[in-house]
Amino acid sequence: MFFDYEMVLSTEFNGGVMDTAVKDQKLNNDGGETEPVRLTDDLRAYLHGEGADLVGFGGVDRVNGAPEEMHPRRYLPDARSMISIGVHVNEAVCDLIARHARKKTNPPSYHSYQLFTLVMINRELDRLAYLGAKYLEDRGYQAYPFPANVPHLPKPSKKYPGGPGDVSHKHIAVGCGLGRLGWHTMLITPRFGTRQKLVSIVTDAPLVPDPMFEENLCDPEACGFLCAKVCPTNAIPMDTKRKVSFLIGGKETVYGDLEGWRCRWGCSGMLKCTGGYRNIPIPAEEPTEEELLEYKSRIDPWQKRVVNYVGLVPYCGRCYAVCPAKGSNGTD
Ligand code: SF4
Ligand code: SF4
Repeated sequence: MFFDYEMVLSTEFNGGVMDTAVKDQKLNNDGGETEPVRLTDDLRAYLHGEGADLVGFGGVDRVNGAPEEMHPRRYLPDARSMISIGVHVNEAVCDLIARHARKKTNPPSYHSYQLFTLVMINRELDRLAYLGAKYLEDRGYQAYPFPANVPHLPKPSKKYPGGPGDVSHKHIAVGCGLGRLGWHTMLITPRFGTRQKLVSIVTDAPLVPDPMFEENLCDPEACGFLCAKVCPTNAIPMDTKRKVSFLIGGKETVYGDLEGWRCRWGCSGMLKCTGGYRNIPIPAEEPTEEELLEYKSRIDPWQKRVVNYVGLVPYCGRCYAVCPAKGSNGTD
């Protein structure tokens, strides 16, 4: 979606195979407190103490069906465990975007949204990933932190219009039991709904996995495909048949088959309602790389200067701001 990257899969992530971390836990389960249990509890407490709002653990085997180029073991061949860390974003700035998306008006500013739900949060997540990895390395384990929001290849492709990340934080978060993916493809948690951002670590430490999250928090028919209705680029389908479905940790994961290049139009600030200074008409078909560069050259030069003040400046976020899933309050 607009801040991380799709793994569009049709494969099984873990067809009921027991996670290595679970095996470790069982091997060490002598009725007393085991080392993996202590390490997991201490790391969780440490990360919460450093500012993490959500911390989850899962065996890497849970994402065995990930594409090879995005599999965590590409980076750490001996990886056994995944750690997903979430930070709650500011509610009021999401509410502003939600109110205007619902009223079909343009918000007075996107700057607080950009800074306090993206730029600042990403740096905070990077800090937490670094500290969590350092915590494990100081105890003799290998630990590989992934940045919160850096594309693996900035050049977009048909499969990954935003440039894929090294891994998909939201898929890892599902594998760590934090929540489920919604129709808009983003993570929904019982505590914050869609209003958190994520980062991940993989490690060879034998951490104890959290259970997969069971409850379905997204019902497109009940909310009337609200995320799709407010999408100004028609990136999200309004037909439940247009879906992506696969397994993570043996649990079915389903979301809308989002047209990423359309989403990038909104997230790149190429429409006024998504925070842009100009409306740059979206073409009917996906543009080539050269065409896309030409479209992007039409962005108002004064809009481009915002980056000097805020840093990387993603726009839009209307779909996630309005999502009424449990934990969100993006209503008037
Ligand atoms: S708005 Fe939220 S609850 Fe409704 S379909 Fe979209 S993701 Fe699901
Ligand atoms: S509402 Fe905005 S962020 Fe969401 S899919 Fe559409 S363009 Fe992308």
